Amino acid sequence: PLPKVAIVGRPNVGKSTLFNRLVRRRVAIVHPQPGVTRDRLEAAVTWRGRSFVLVDTGGLLDAVPREGMEGVVWQQASAAVQEASLLLLVVDVRDGAMALDRQLANWLRRSGKPSLLVVNKVDAPAHEAGIHEFAALGLGEGVPVSAASGRGVGELLDRILDLL
Ligand code: GDP
Ligand code: MG
Repeated sequence: PLPKVAIVGRPNVGKSTLFNRLVRRRVAIVHPQPGVTRDRLEAAVTWRGRSFVLVDTGGLLDAVPREGMEGVVWQQASAAVQEASLLLLVVDVRDGAMALDRQLANWLRRSGKPSLLVVNKVDAPAHEAGIHEFAALGLGEGVPVSAASGRGVGELLDRILDLL
């Protein structure tokens, strides 16, 4: 079976946009309001002759109550993450590091799985200065991308293959 790469992140950071960009199809529903992805989505991605299965866990995590991360929904998201060989934590450069980003980063680090920080919405070179703030998440230097435009996505795919 192909290795699985799971996309996690709080609502509205651009997980579904990144999923569609990487699979090169509009599979996931992108919406300006949080909580729109209902199902766990999976699709195969091939890059430089190698393939993996990309999983958008957004629907699961988006449904988590704002107050906490307990409950059945969280356990389902957790199960999706357990199956993955690599975890991508997506954050939004325009928002900076938020409390839920820190919670998710801690959870990913505790999982012991290889994890990669993806700083989305870096639409222009001027936004790149903003990625340094995310070093505090403890997941290393983030990979700047713009899921909307495709900027940095080739570099991200190279980094993913390096870690698989
Ligand atoms: P999700 O909730 O994490 O799945 O986020 P979505 O993919 O649904 O995107 C949430 C919003 O962010 C939508 O309005 C997207 O158009 C927007 N968005 C996603 N990626 C980018 C990006 O790279 N740059 C900008 N400026 N907006 C983006
Ligand atoms: Mg989504």
